[in-house]
Amino acid sequence: MDPPHYPESDAEHLSTLHAVGERVSAPSGLTELLGDTLDRVIELLRADAGAILVADEGARELVLASHRGISAAFAAKEARLPIGTCMCGHAVEAGEPLVLVDDAALEPRCVIGHCMEDGFRSLLCLPLSAGGRVWGLLRLHGRAPDAFDGREARLLSFIGSQLGLAIQRVRLQEEIARLLRRIEEEHAALDSLVRSLVDGLILVDGDGRVAYWNPSAERYLGLKAEAVLGRGPEAIDAHLHAIVQDAAQGAAALRRALADPAAYPQFEFRVTAPAPRTLQARFFPVQGRQGYGVVLRDVTGERYVDEMKTQLLATVSHELRTPLASIKGFASTLLRADVQWEPATQREFLQIIDQEADRLGELIGNLLAMSRLEAGVLRLDFGRVGLAGLIEETAAELRPRVAGHALSIDVPAGLPDVWADARRVRQVLHNLVENAIKYSSGGEIRIRARVAGPEVLVSVSDQGVGIAADQLQRIFERFYQVDGAATRRAGGAGLGLSICKGIVKAHGGRIWAESAPGVGSTFTFTLPIDPPATGN
Ligand code: ADP
Repeated sequence: MDPPHYPESDAEHLSTLHAVGERVSAPSGLTELLGDTLDRVIELLRADAGAILVADEGARELVLASHRGISAAFAAKEARLPIGTCMCGHAVEAGEPLVLVDDAALEPRCVIGHCMEDGFRSLLCLPLSAGGRVWGLLRLHGRAPDAFDGREARLLSFIGSQLGLAIQRVRLQEEIARLLRRIEEEHAALDSLVRSLVDGLILVDGDGRVAYWNPSAERYLGLKAEAVLGRGPEAIDAHLHAIVQDAAQGAAALRRALADPAAYPQFEFRVTAPAPRTLQARFFPVQGRQGYGVVLRDVTGERYVDEMKTQLLATVSHELRTPLASIKGFASTLLRADVQWEPATQREFLQIIDQEADRLGELIGNLLAMSRLEAGVLRLDFGRVGLAGLIEETAAELRPRVAGHALSIDVPAGLPDVWADARRVRQVLHNLVENAIKYSSGGEIRIRARVAGPEVLVSVSDQGVGIAADQLQRIFERFYQVDGAATRRAGGAGLGLSICKGIVKAHGGRIWAESAPGVGSTFTFTLPIDPPATGN
């Protein structure tokens, strides 16, 4: 049996402890520290081999962090060791200060036996504890049994706690870094969420200084965050005064809101710049803080719709009343008991009644189509549609009404079918040709169709009154009518083109007009040849 290894002197021992203590407090990598310490302890106790394993609490395993003098096979087998298993795992689980095994061959808790396969008999397990937790394990191996002296080994407990502290420190640093990363990620996610809010968001601190101003607030009010952050009302007042319509009223509403933001006040105001908008400002107190927040919502569209509804009611009642009055008037006239009407006159009156009833029917149909288009519930019956036939039919239908015009068709042979709702396309064509008739007193009306890439272009040209350049966009708006004698003569409600636009858009196409006043107009729309890839 080999003689036990003793340190040459206590002085040597103390110097090792001192060196380890110094090393632990020096800022360096954990792996390096563990390796250095292992070298010193192996030398001090004249061990044949050693290893340091670090606890992975989550996985309940010991992970081999540093080793000396053991075979690569042993190191590979012990790369991860379950806590609670074998002598080392047991020492960590039990939190024992030190375990000495004189002969692994005789120790029932040495169940795995990798040490013995590598030719080691004696074993020293030193759990590395700090703050009431075991952070790892230092293990020494001796080839001979009884290689380690108990008194000597117990002095290692200082090293155990120093290494425990070092691992604890690194673990804490890792944990802090992880928490910081999480906080940063959450902050970034929240920031990008608030930044991408469609609504403007403004936060004002207890001193009245702007603490947050998101990109939508920049867009709505035309003021960059850099210009207002950290600043008080003086940074905004003059600017708001310049862009808010009826600034005095806006300022009064703002004062009332600021008097009690906790009551969640809200008011609306219009800005003229950077773009004309109606904005709704809703105030709210910021929970657990001084100051308040404001959400700015763009309600321009909603207010426009409100205005449109009012206008719709006015127009509809006016437009319905006119033909209705005619019908009523002529019917009452015919019914007069005191007058005997000539058959020709009777027929003439009945024709007027018939025409006015048609006008009424058309108007109601248009209104219904428009409300369905707007609600997005206009059902389109898609299928392959041959435009040549459709154009022929429309022309044939309207020819009796074009006495003073020449109606021509220009469709190339072999024009591909389009993917559309035939009934709705006929309605668009009908409307455009009718307009061409209405707004020209003669000349040629030409319906053309051409392939352009994945679409077919259909155009209706006339040689009529034409449309001024500044009206070309507006004629597609609901109820918009160019102010002029021709329009007044023609009648109508200004709905036709907006319905055409809605129908064409619902097909994925475009519609536009080109015109020269006094020369004529061309209305063109596109329809897709193929159904969209996603189906319909
Ligand atoms: P309306 O019922 O008034 O015809 P539309 O929506 O069809 O309504 O047209 C809107 C306005 O566009 C018309 O009032 C008219 O001023 C103008 N417009 C439409 N088509 C033509 C055209 N072919 N030539 C000249 N002006 C046109």
